[in-house]
Amino acid sequence: MNNDKFYKLNNFLKENFKKKIYKVSLDGGFTCPNRDGKISNKGCLFCSDRGSGEFAGDRCKTITAQIDEQIDFMKDKIGSSKVIAYFQNFTNTYGDVEYLRKIYYEALNHEKVIGIAIATRPDCLSDDVINLLDEINRKYFLWVELGLQTANDSIGKIINRGYDTKVYIDSCKILNEKNIKFVTHMIVGLPNEEKKDLYDTVDLINNVKSWGIKIHLLYILKNSKLLSYYQQNPFKIYEKDEYENTVIELLERLSPKVVVHRLTGDAKKDELFEPLWSLNKRGILNSIEKKLKSSKSYQGKFFNEKEAIK
Ligand code: SF4
Repeated sequence: MNNDKFYKLNNFLKENFKKKIYKVSLDGGFTCPNRDGKISNKGCLFCSDRGSGEFAGDRCKTITAQIDEQIDFMKDKIGSSKVIAYFQNFTNTYGDVEYLRKIYYEALNHEKVIGIAIATRPDCLSDDVINLLDEINRKYFLWVELGLQTANDSIGKIINRGYDTKVYIDSCKILNEKNIKFVTHMIVGLPNEEKKDLYDTVDLINNVKSWGIKIHLLYILKNSKLLSYYQQNPFKIYEKDEYENTVIELLERLSPKVVVHRLTGDAKKDELFEPLWSLNKRGILNSIEKKLKSSKSYQGKFFNEKEAIK
């Protein structure tokens, strides 16, 4: 963890690749079974038109073109560094396995790419998909991202997640058996959520041995289903200070081995309804780090491995 108060992804990447690694976000042209009618056609309550990937590339372009374009956009920053190709929006394992193979390898064959990250749902990991991921994982750097959001199934129903927490637990077992790294997404601020739900979610993430975590702040976009829901069923919107303190509590419960990929949300300014303070992402992260230092706190402060369910 160096002098840092939590185990940052950048540190993991520097330890393993000896230099800074960047990420490029791609659109693989997928949809999602929770949107196309297979499970539901409503999608998760918080999902945007772009399948929760507002900053990904343009799906009309090839994977190579999307990577080139994003590298070109960041060229002053990236220099000679390498990138991880991140298949971000919608469900990036929801397709014919030969199509998946084609686009994953197209990314991996790009000269600047040192590995891939694949965001998906835990109910979209068929045997064929797992075999393909296993094959890639033996040769390249890979991680998979799973959108758990909450360990509480009744909140899962409110947000129309479309699967039970047990499905997530079972998928984690399979990924662990194959030594495939996975990152779990959780959201702070969901309707009906209590502190205990957040604690339970972090405890579950520890117990399933998730390699990484993304903690998101729930934000409400204009013209979204979530905004209509909020107007009919108002729920608590976090204040900045309260959100930061909650994130610190979650980090304190989190195993020190879990790599932290994200600690807040990332909405586009002109699309955001609330909370508007979330636009200052750098300010939130700085404030969390400052509070951790001043309170002499750190990731894993209250984590007890012995108490974790084996
Ligand atoms: S699983 Fe992802 S893409 Fe599908 S509806 Fe939920 S947030 Fe959107």
